[in-house]
Amino acid sequence: MPTFTIIAPIYNEVENIPELYTRIKDVMEGTDEPWELIMVDDGSTDGSTELIHQLGSQDARVKPLIFARNFGHQIAVTAGLDFSRGEAVVIIDSDLQDPPEVILKLIEKWRQGYEVVYAVRAEREGETWFKEFTAALFYRLIYRITDVDIPRDTGDFRLLDRKVVDIMGQMRERHRFLRGMSVWVGFKQTGVEYKRAARFAGETKYPFKKMLKFAVDAITSFSYFPLQLAMYLGFIAAGASILAIPVVVILRASGSQAFFGQASTLISVLFLGGVQLISLGILGEYIGRLYDEAKGRPLYVVSEVPNQED
Ligand code: UDP
Ligand code: MG
Repeated sequence: MPTFTIIAPIYNEVENIPELYTRIKDVMEGTDEPWELIMVDDGSTDGSTELIHQLGSQDARVKPLIFARNFGHQIAVTAGLDFSRGEAVVIIDSDLQDPPEVILKLIEKWRQGYEVVYAVRAEREGETWFKEFTAALFYRLIYRITDVDIPRDTGDFRLLDRKVVDIMGQMRERHRFLRGMSVWVGFKQTGVEYKRAARFAGETKYPFKKMLKFAVDAITSFSYFPLQLAMYLGFIAAGASILAIPVVVILRASGSQAFFGQASTLISVLFLGGVQLISLGILGEYIGRLYDEAKGRPLYVVSEVPNQED
C-alpha cells in the first residue's frame, strides 16, 4: 500500500501533464516511501485523457481515474479522495501553480503529527489584478460570514491524513467547498507558506461564471447569513417607516408641502420591491441546493477507475 497519494484534477491540461508528472516523480522518489499519483481526468477534450493513459501504462504508480464528462474541480478532487489509499493524501493543481516541491514541507508537518496541513499563498505570481482582487475579497468575506474559520489565502493545495480523508468521504454533499470541509473536520491543523507560481501553460479553467458559482457554493455551504440578510433589511425598513409616520403626519397637519407627489412613493415601492426580489432569489439559491441534495444522484460518473492491483 502506498504511504502517499497525490491527487491531481485535470481539465484540459495536456501541456502541463508531462512537467507535472516529472516534478512530482522527482519529489516523491526523494521520500523513499511508496506513493501513487491519481490523475483525475475531469472530462478533458484536448488529448489529456490519452496522455494520462500513456503515463499510466509506463508507470504503475500513475493511476488514471477518468470521468464520463466534466463534473467540476471540487468533484474531481472528491473522486480522487474516494479512490486514494495513502496514509497521507496531497491535493495539488495540475497547472503547476502549486509547486510540487512544497509537498515535502507538507509531509514534514504531517510527520510532526498534524492531520491537516494547508499551503498558504504568501505571494502570487502571474495573476490578473481582477483575480487577485476578487480572491482577496472572497477570502475575507467567507472568513467573516461562515461558522468555520477557513484560513485566508489557502487553496485546495493541502495534505490530509487518512483519518480526515475517511471522514470527508462520509460527507456526500453535492455543492462542495473542500477547503471548508477539511477545516470543519477538526483535528490538528497547521499551515505552511509558499509562493504561488504562475500557470506553467494554458489558461485558467475557472472563468468568471465558474468562480461565481464556486463562491456561492462556498457561502451557502457554511453560512445562513444571506438568508438572515432579508430579515435585517426588513427590520431596517420597518424601523425607518415607523419613525417616518409621525414625522409625515405632523408635517401634513401643519400644512407643509413636503413629500408632495408620487416620486417619493414610487421610489420606496421600487426599493422594497427590489429588496423582496433579491430575498426571494437568495431563498431560491438555498432551495435549489436542497432540491439537488434531495435527488441524491451520484456525485460523479466514472468511465475508468484506477487499477489498484499492485
Ligand atoms: N479543473 C478541473 N475541472 C474543472 C476546472 C478545473 O479539474 O472544471 C482543474 C484544473 O485542471 C486545475 C485545477 O482544477 O488542475 C485548478 O484550475 P485552474 O488552474 O484553472 O484554476 P485557477 O488556478 O485559475 O483558480
Ligand atoms: Mg491554476
